[in-house]
Amino acid sequence: MGDIIQLLPDHVANQIAAGEVVQRPASVVKELLENAIDAGATQISLVLKDAGKTLIQVSDNGKGMSATDARLSFERHATSKIKRAEDLFQLTTKGFRGEALASIAAIAQVELKSKQEQDELGTCIKIKGSEVESQEPCVTQKGTVIGVKNLFFNIPARRNFLKSNQVETRHVIDEFQRVAIAHAQIGFSLHHNGNELFNLPATNARQRIVHIFGSKTNEKLVPVSEETELINIEGFVGKPAYAKRTRSEQFFFVNNRFIKSPYLHHAVNAAFEGLLPDKAQPSYFLFLSIDPKRIDINIHPTKTEIKFDDEHALYAILRSAIKHSLGQFNVAPILDFERDSSLDTPYDLSKKEVQVPQIEVDRNFNPFDTEKQAASQSAAKAMAFNRHTAKKNVAWEALYTQIDEQLPETKIEVESEEVTGNLFGQQQQDLSGDSVFQLQKKYIVCPYKNGMLLIDQNRAHTRILYEELLRNITVKAAVSQQLLFPLSLQYNAIEVDMLSNLREHLEQIGFIFDSIDTSEVSISGIPTLINESEVSILLDQLLADFEHEIPDSGFLQTDVFAKSMARSMAVKNGSVLAKEEQLAIINSLFACKEPQICPNNKKVFVRLEVEDLEKNFR
Ligand code: ADP
Ligand code: MG
Repeated sequence: MGDIIQLLPDHVANQIAAGEVVQRPASVVKELLENAIDAGATQISLVLKDAGKTLIQVSDNGKGMSATDARLSFERHATSKIKRAEDLFQLTTKGFRGEALASIAAIAQVELKSKQEQDELGTCIKIKGSEVESQEPCVTQKGTVIGVKNLFFNIPARRNFLKSNQVETRHVIDEFQRVAIAHAQIGFSLHHNGNELFNLPATNARQRIVHIFGSKTNEKLVPVSEETELINIEGFVGKPAYAKRTRSEQFFFVNNRFIKSPYLHHAVNAAFEGLLPDKAQPSYFLFLSIDPKRIDINIHPTKTEIKFDDEHALYAILRSAIKHSLGQFNVAPILDFERDSSLDTPYDLSKKEVQVPQIEVDRNFNPFDTEKQAASQSAAKAMAFNRHTAKKNVAWEALYTQIDEQLPETKIEVESEEVTGNLFGQQQQDLSGDSVFQLQKKYIVCPYKNGMLLIDQNRAHTRILYEELLRNITVKAAVSQQLLFPLSLQYNAIEVDMLSNLREHLEQIGFIFDSIDTSEVSISGIPTLINESEVSILLDQLLADFEHEIPDSGFLQTDVFAKSMARSMAVKNGSVLAKEEQLAIINSLFACKEPQICPNNKKVFVRLEVEDLEKNFR
């Protein structure tokens, strides 16, 4: 193979939308991986140091470059991939702008070694800030190794603008995963600071996804396959039961190129309509193949957005293809009148003995005996409350014990200036259950000296938990409950990375981790404030809240953390609260530093003064 690179004519170059190629290490990674794929490599390895800030190295076993091509590859608009404007509309390669290497060489120290199969020797070129420092023949393998050192070394402002290593690494892993999922037939590896993060053998699409997202992924994937004249759709969607709260498993590829499309995302969501719990995100890995003439990839410089010429049709096809798969694999409800309904009885239930409904009568009940009535009523309440806590909410237990210790006479002690003074009247009104009640399963109503308070139960509880979590993190270690059997949860590499970054916080509020490894997290203790069954929802929400933005400052990080946890742990509107729970909320709320507002700055309660009420009666 001889020299193949040509300079693009200016007018073609101008047709290519201009844009910043390199924003961060991840953009370099994307360009280099794509070049290796375009070169026909079957094995590609990526090595990083310090999130790519110090070194990004990509080695491939592709076709390599001649000495002339190697030199020319660093010229702007030098590409072997298109020759004429018309070629833009029939792209089959990843690259076509011929500006990636030129841009990278302008802002880093680059060393390139490349050799074509038939050549004895390869070429080694060193470039620093667009200046060629050396070019000489060298001994090297067939293929190309390109090392990019000290990104933005000559633009300090850009270098300072880079995020923490954690965040930049996550962006790199994102790009790496996208490319790796789109090219299952190519082997990939990723090493960071000497640690192997991924080693993905060449395989099929399904196995590739499983290798990346963990072995349990296999059982949740439902294949999707649809051929139409306009488009072919292949790939997988996650069964609704496995849906997560994060959007980390949502991938569209068009002609093997990762793209973002809110419109197509909407089509997928529409197919899942009614199958997912609130806020849950469907997983999808969808590969669309479409005639390159029908799309324009050129509208966005970083090339994750594309334009289709018949979006409406695409939407409909995609939605129905997914609906079909979900139905076919029995994960969506199906109407089938010929089905023997006895088959639908769950196996366990059909064996179970039927219990006769029982009625319990309180023979001592006398509606005119007020004292007894009160006693039996409160006993019933206590029972109901016990059932409630045992079944559902361990959080309350903690809340009560704390209150019992602190407030033996349920007196209300308030620190806050605004609420101090005699919120509850001179005589420190005793908030016994009778004066407090719940309205619309949403508000707690309680009297205070000149009127009443209407407390939003969810916001109040969020405030209480938020302050308690902050206290646990900053002042004292929280109490854990040991789990009988450690809980093991599956996460993908990005999520595992985020969890290990948040590990310290999680431990401060009472989580005990046995291990956090590449795809699995094992938990042997959890905060007394939460229930075992809530752990995965809680962590999912946490990951969703932190997605891509773990704040750099420790304080902000703690704050986002406490807010996220408080939000998912707080009692929801619509939950019935026992009297004791209502009282506990009121008491704990007014022991808070800022009872008036919840952590996201919304009002927790309103006061209705008798005076104001009276205006309504005039
Ligand atoms: P583009 O990929 O848009 O053509 P680049 O600046 O990324 O532009 O690369 C310029 C040219 O260098 C490519 O067209 C290709 O011919 C050559 N090239 C870059 N990387 C490799 C590689 N890993 N193996 C072989 N050739 C490469
Ligand atoms: Mg390229």
